Amino acid sequence: MATISVTCTDEKAALVVLRNRERELSYLVDMVPSHIWRLTPAGEPIFFNRRMIEFLGMDAADFDKPGTSRLESIAEIAVHPDDAKQFNDVLSGCLVSGENFAMRYRLRRSDGVYRWMSSRAEPVRDENGRISQWYGLCHDIEDQMCADELMRRNERQLRQLIDAVPALIWSTTPDGRPTYLNKRYTEVTGATLDDLMGPDGSPAPLAVAHPEDRPAAAGLRARAFETGGPYAVRYRQLRRDGSYHWTDTRALPLRNDAGAILQWYGVSVDIDDLVKAQEALQQSEQRLQQLVETLPAMIYCATPDGEPIYRSQQLREFLGINLEDLGEPGASGLGSTLEAVIHPDDLTAVKQRYSHSLATGEPYAQRHRLRRFDGQYRWVETRAATMRNSDDQIVQWNGICLDIEDEVRAQEKLRSAQESLARASQAASLAELSASIAHEVNQPLAAVVANSHACYRWLSIEPANLQRAKTTVERIIRDANSAAEVVSRIRALFKQTVEPRMTTTISSVIAEARNLMTDEASRRRMRLEIDVDGELPPVAFDRVQVQQVLINLIRNGMDAMETVTGDRVVGLRARRVKDVIETEISDFGQGVTSPDKIFDPFFTTKRNGMGMGLAICRSIVESHGGRLWAQNRPQGATFIFTLPIEAKTK
Ligand code: ADP
Repeated sequence: MATISVTCTDEKAALVVLRNRERELSYLVDMVPSHIWRLTPAGEPIFFNRRMIEFLGMDAADFDKPGTSRLESIAEIAVHPDDAKQFNDVLSGCLVSGENFAMRYRLRRSDGVYRWMSSRAEPVRDENGRISQWYGLCHDIEDQMCADELMRRNERQLRQLIDAVPALIWSTTPDGRPTYLNKRYTEVTGATLDDLMGPDGSPAPLAVAHPEDRPAAAGLRARAFETGGPYAVRYRQLRRDGSYHWTDTRALPLRNDAGAILQWYGVSVDIDDLVKAQEALQQSEQRLQQLVETLPAMIYCATPDGEPIYRSQQLREFLGINLEDLGEPGASGLGSTLEAVIHPDDLTAVKQRYSHSLATGEPYAQRHRLRRFDGQYRWVETRAATMRNSDDQIVQWNGICLDIEDEVRAQEKLRSAQESLARASQAASLAELSASIAHEVNQPLAAVVANSHACYRWLSIEPANLQRAKTTVERIIRDANSAAEVVSRIRALFKQTVEPRMTTTISSVIAEARNLMTDEASRRRMRLEIDVDGELPPVAFDRVQVQQVLINLIRNGMDAMETVTGDRVVGLRARRVKDVIETEISDFGQGVTSPDKIFDPFFTTKRNGMGMGLAICRSIVESHGGRLWAQNRPQGATFIFTLPIEAKTK
């Protein structure tokens, strides 16, 4: 009895264990995150786990449809119409052959949404090897399918993009073995991936490079691949038609998190047009540069504010200073740049003209002395003009500077030769004049002397012969008068009427006189300042003679300033005063000391003076119906002459 009860108790316990296990198993089957199903050997579904029932919203038994097997009605109701036939065919085939079933298809969820499933089933056989059941497992792969599809789409787009960009794209293994070429690469160069492998299987990525450019490119490539640094090279690349085009090739390595190179990615861009345009530009720039450098002139360029930015070789050699020697543009300032090279006596005038041109944009032209590298100052003529952009804004000043030293020297020589000639001829005519005066005056003077002796004798005797003495004195008076007449006649020589006279403006004659005297003035470190009223009417006068008057008066003014240290300026001023034109020539000299004598012939205070200049000037002016006089100023003298507007002759 006791034994039986023990047995009973054991069995009960075993039953409880069994039930628990079954519950656990059924719980497991229902809770695994997959669909589990079971079919009969004929393919009739007999079990769906809970997740599958929940997904489909139906159990295996619910697929009973009159006229069709349950499997067929599952295919019809739950499988996507596009997949249903294949599902049926594959599963039926497996049921017949006993092979494992595996398929992906879209299964309809209870809410009508189809989701991709990956499904597998295997048969279970009895001890006789007959199939007793099919067990299937099916899990939702919708998200994975979507991700795969997205990836495929992205990859497709990327590939399209890579093939569409107007560049040749390639990749290689870390050791340089080509692994990919985009479509355009082959289209453009005609080379395929195989062509970039040498006959011995070693990589030949530069097979498309021009043989002449290959060694340099290979060197750069090898260095980049060795160091992992970026690869950038320009070479001529082969085209399908056998021509070569300049290309710019660049590549970078792709590294993993540990920094090891996984792949090299590169791109080649056609820059043939750019390189050719650059070459053409370089050539034309070179030609222009050569032109500028070989022109027989010194050329320079400056910024709109006058800072030098370029000096031709000839100018650099002349000055012996390069732009760099001046430091940063603007650092030394334009003023000190000019000071370094312009003669101190010309500096003020140059600065004035230069700043005027910079301020107004008017062309610049000036003659001045420029310091050569050896310290010698040479006369140059500088001209500059603006270069403007399409908005008419000044972008640059371009200038040319010509060495005119030899020309100036030759002119100076000519002028001093002319001057000495004039002086010689003046001296000669003075000698002649003196001789003739002496000759003409000598006779009456000799008679005066003889008669004076006679008169003395008549008065010295006892008794004095007054009658004879009186007669002798009368002769003396006669002879003295005839001597005075000689002098008057000579003076009359200078009062001759001058012909022909032309109607012209005093300003044009003043301009001529200024031109003639400018060089002498600068040689003597003096300046001429002209101030002529622009509205002066034309007058009839002898141009050469009036010019002679002007030159005489200017030169006298300059002579008077020879020892002056302050302002050394001769001013010329012309204006209308009622019905005459008044011309003033003023200086900063010592002033006139003997105003009552200076117009007399032969009056001079100069060592080499003739004393004829002012006398002649006055006679010329008077012969034109005008007047010439002098007046002193606080410093210096002013000589004024008038010319009547209604021309008169004397
Ligand atoms: P010269 O050529 O000998 O000087 P001019 O007739 O030209 O003869 O001048 C006569 C004199 O008048 C000069 O020697 C000088 O003393 C005086 N004179 C002329 N111009 C000036 C002047 N601008 N300032 C001072 N004195 C002058």
